Amino acid sequence: MACAERGKPASKVPTTLVQRPKNIILLIGDGMATPQVSAAVYWRGVGRSVWERFPVVGFHQSHALDERVTDSAASATAFACGQKTKNGAIGLVPPDTPCRTILEELSDRGWATGIVVTCSATHATPASFIAHQEFRAFTDHIAEDYLKTRLDCFIGGGKGFFDDRYDRRNLLDSLRQRGYVIRFGLSMNRLPLDGSAPFYLFTAHREPPGAHEGRRYLPYATALACQYLQKRSPKGFFLMVEGSQIDWALHANDARWLKAELLDFDAAVAAALRFAQQNGETLVIATGDHECGGMSLNPAKKPKQFEPAFTSRLHSAAMVPVFAYGPQASLFSGVYDNTDIYFKMWEALGENRRATGVK
Ligand code: MG
Ligand code: ZN
Repeated sequence: MACAERGKPASKVPTTLVQRPKNIILLIGDGMATPQVSAAVYWRGVGRSVWERFPVVGFHQSHALDERVTDSAASATAFACGQKTKNGAIGLVPPDTPCRTILEELSDRGWATGIVVTCSATHATPASFIAHQEFRAFTDHIAEDYLKTRLDCFIGGGKGFFDDRYDRRNLLDSLRQRGYVIRFGLSMNRLPLDGSAPFYLFTAHREPPGAHEGRRYLPYATALACQYLQKRSPKGFFLMVEGSQIDWALHANDARWLKAELLDFDAAVAAALRFAQQNGETLVIATGDHECGGMSLNPAKKPKQFEPAFTSRLHSAAMVPVFAYGPQASLFSGVYDNTDIYFKMWEALGENRRATGVK
């Protein structure tokens, strides 16, 4: 499904790509599969959506270990660890074996790492890249797991899971003792953007507002994280960005909220793509973790419009498109399992994890 001839670089100066990526940006639209991408393209306007600019497209099958329909924890664990797990498990395979995530491993090797989301830090998708818990609801334990990995930057909600806890511990003090700059709010001016210190920027006490309520930080935070992480390590960086609330709008069957979230995520993916096109050493992978809402695009009375419709308030088993740009992007064409996203990222870096069985 490679269609390189369709690739339209947005920058005027075409960048020569290196053979292997130095940086990886993985962007996840929670609940975003083909109907949602289609809606994003039509809502943005054909010819203007970021999804039309990727040279490589594939599909992943999102099922969990023992269920055809996955949740976000099992699906993000598949991306992060390359292992199938049961629904609800965070970075852990049954019965209780933690799996090492690509973020943790690259961090140990001296890569800069970052997480930028529109949910709280402890929510299933970001948690699965850095925490190891049997159930996604163990949010206080998930917050503690953040202290076990050198994460260079976090931007998202969930401050309360660190400093407003049942056990009365203040995890933010522990982070400060380790040299972290901790900020709360939406201003990105007072962050150590010269790369001098790691930071957490909490955009909300628990969950940030929806994009339909005026939340706007994701595209800017994505661009800022790329620039910052580049300064943090000469080895390269791994950045996970999530459009977290696409899924929440779908569970609510709320088309207005969904449109705002899809356009917000489109802009965040565009920011990552812009960085990669100028940088030339960055592999961008943008996908969803599963479909949600059983969404369809029905005929509408207005010309050239569609009527979004939903057949459920739950996730579905539809395959999920994967878009890739950059060095080794062609690895992501075809139809494969969601665990293959993990193996393909390592393969792009020159390591065959399947053959060696390294986990
Ligand atoms: Mg999520
Ligand atoms: Zn969901």
